[in-house]
Amino acid sequence: MKRQRGNYVRDDKSTDDDFKLIESLAPLFEPIVALKAKMASLGLFTHDRELLVCPACKLTEDVTFEGYLITYHADDAKSSIDCGLRFEEVDEVRLRCPVCGTYVANKPT
Ligand SMILES: [Zn+2]
Repeated sequence: MKRQRGNYVRDDKSTDDDFKLIESLAPLFEPIVALKAKMASLGLFTHDRELLVCPACKLTEDVTFEGYLITYHADDAKSSIDCGLRFEEVDEVRLRCPVCGTYVANKPT
């Protein structure tokens, strides 16, 4: 059985000490979470998941030297030029290709 308190989900194996430790560390992670959100809003790749390739249409993600997330079609003669499309996050485990709608697994790094 899982119980949730705030942003944290705990299972029956968690002790009160585990939970107190997580709660005490949470404020330390808030600036990191805010920084990642800011990076994503600027178009930078946050490296919290693997880069994607759509198995159906081959839309491919890559990261520029400056750290920006881009997409291109692998079979395009002008590949590595950003086509401006982005995979859409459906939930924690799936993203959807903006070209063909195929679901691609979200693999955290
Ligand atoms: Zn696709």
